[in-house]
Amino acid sequence: MNNSYKDIRKHVDSIRLVDTHEHLPQEGERVNKIVDVLSQFYLHYTSSDLRSAGMSMEDILYIRDTKIPLDYRWAVFEPWWEKIKNTGYSRCMEIAARELYGVDGINAETYKQLSRKMMDRNKKGLYKWVLNEKAGIDICILDTIAENCEVDKELFAPVLRVSEYASPRNKKDLENLGKQFGNPIHNLGDYINLVKRRFDTLEGKVVAVKIALAYDRSIHFEKRTYSEAEESLNKVFKTRGFSWTPIEGTEYSEVVQDGPGREELLPLQDFLVHLTIQEASKRRLPIQIHTGLHEGNQNMVQNSNPELLVNLFLEYGDAKFDIFHGGWPYSSQLSALAKNFPNVYIDMCWMHIISPSRAISALDEWLDEVPVNKIMGFGGDYLCVEGSYGHSVMARENVAKVLTKKVDDGVYDIDEAKKYATWVLRDNPQRLFFPEK
Ligand SMILES: [Zn+2]
Repeated sequence: MNNSYKDIRKHVDSIRLVDTHEHLPQEGERVNKIVDVLSQFYLHYTSSDLRSAGMSMEDILYIRDTKIPLDYRWAVFEPWWEKIKNTGYSRCMEIAARELYGVDGINAETYKQLSRKMMDRNKKGLYKWVLNEKAGIDICILDTIAENCEVDKELFAPVLRVSEYASPRNKKDLENLGKQFGNPIHNLGDYINLVKRRFDTLEGKVVAVKIALAYDRSIHFEKRTYSEAEESLNKVFKTRGFSWTPIEGTEYSEVVQDGPGREELLPLQDFLVHLTIQEASKRRLPIQIHTGLHEGNQNMVQNSNPELLVNLFLEYGDAKFDIFHGGWPYSSQLSALAKNFPNVYIDMCWMHIISPSRAISALDEWLDEVPVNKIMGFGGDYLCVEGSYGHSVMARENVAKVLTKKVDDGVYDIDEAKKYATWVLRDNPQRLFFPEK
């Protein structure tokens, strides 16, 4: 380890992080569950690597089922673990096992002890311990499904999820939306009111808007007229077919009207996304947009190339677009966009574990290409709090490595490098999401 790395790493480790993106459930939900290493550490990301390595979905569900003895599940899991242990996702979990629970990695010798230690810590105060004390995170921006974004304000600042209202498929969905938000929908005017009311209700509570529609469709959101969107909405009401849908947990079924095809609903969804951006922009709320890789398996990555968003960047000059996951694998395209547009920011959430090496090379390039105030350096993006910790360690390491290289190449002096580390990991997200503080 050279001297500049030690010096820079020490500084980076002292920075209190502003974490731009998490999915953590309420702490109460987590600590009420029986947990062990297989049920928590292989809940997502690593599970996608397991699936990609060839493990069946059935086996993945089996290893996570805490009703089955841990030994049986470990036996099924172990040969697959060896196949994915090389990836960033796996390394993140190994760091969490070592540094939070003091065991020597995740293996046949440690899995029982690790699981016991996880249960010992699985009580009130877990999140504060992991996030505040161990990871050095001051606040996490939370993508939450909690009703009306009620979250623990000490640790979290919530976002408004566009998918909450922008993906109706049939009349039942519209009815439910109307009931949920006290605003029945019978025409596009009603729908617009509902969206505006959501913004009014959550004013002062949410710090951003989140658009994750890339999981279901292309993120090219075309400009639509009022009448195109109205026609698209009316197709939902005009559908004549219906089906009997079982009511969960009962012996009864209910009639649900079929919806039109997805393509036919795109004009409505496009319209709602534009409306959302207008409302967010009026209220100075940044807009977080998922781009690049999809969690899970077998999605269409070309649907989420950030270049598809250019029409929005051009139209909404006053909005602030926080573009997720460094666009990975479209990091160079995102660089061109962030360099070109004053309203486009790069957000590295999820990226340090998707690809530690590409996070390093991309940050190295972005620092040459993009004004430093526009790079958000860390977002844990986990459902399992231990993952947020492992990720924070990898993010600090990557940022320190890149800045050391810049210093060693004679590009920045050491004080400049330290300043940029603080900006990327703390000050930039602080300014973007909490401008008054
Ligand atoms: Zn996410």
